[in-house]
Amino acid sequence: MRKKIVAGNWKMNKDYSEGLSLFSEVLNMVKDEVRGEQQVVVCAPYIHLHSLSALAKGTNNVFVGAQNAHQEASGAYTGEISTGMLKSVGVEYVILGHSERRQYFGENNELLAKKTNTALANDLKPIFCIGETLAERESNQHFDVIKTQLAEATFHLSAEDFSKLVIAYEPVWAIGTGVTASSAQAQEIHAFIRSEVAAKYGAEVAENTTILYGGSCNPGNAAELFAQKDIDGGLIGGASLKSRDFVDIVKTFN
Ligand code: 13P
Repeated sequence: MRKKIVAGNWKMNKDYSEGLSLFSEVLNMVKDEVRGEQQVVVCAPYIHLHSLSALAKGTNNVFVGAQNAHQEASGAYTGEISTGMLKSVGVEYVILGHSERRQYFGENNELLAKKTNTALANDLKPIFCIGETLAERESNQHFDVIKTQLAEATFHLSAEDFSKLVIAYEPVWAIGTGVTASSAQAQEIHAFIRSEVAAKYGAEVAENTTILYGGSCNPGNAAELFAQKDIDGGLIGGASLKSRDFVDIVKTFN
């Protein structure tokens, strides 16, 4: 059975003590809630990762993730963080391909394919983000955009390696805007993603691929989104910054 995941993406928010408080609150509230195939992942800024991993250690199904990593294993890349460094402080997941990285830092599918390889080589699980802009949806290109992002950044992988990815569908027009994709719009794309994975890697890999929805997901709309057949949880931005909201989203699993 595929994993069901609620992942928080704090983005560039929370100083050290605020981050510790938020994570401790979340941990206390969710540690007895997540079970079986369910996981909670908190993707925090780098400064938090060591402390949060220590807190999460030994808990059931709660993991810490980074929001980016460099494509090279090590070297003269001032200011960058490697996947091996992340692994060394207990990080399990890394978000790759977020639209904010694509938009503000010029990350393209070719670079993201390298980052994916390096993450997998260091035993980090990528939460790989794909999604179309508003202009792309309005000009009816959304299926093509998704298809190209998947193919160029992830379909070079072996089936074994692809199986370690979590895919996150994040329509750019729904991120931080308060406009959520309707559950039908999201389900349509999730089913398309699963069919693309099936065409490339076969039905079994596709059935086992966890596909998250992200974009203005909140306690009021999570249950309907997560009830869709091909939606296996969410990647939560703004609502992950308030422990109560994030935990309420986690609880929609039950
Ligand atoms: P919001 O939930 O704030 O729309 O952000 C979604 C997101 O970008 C998660 O990675």
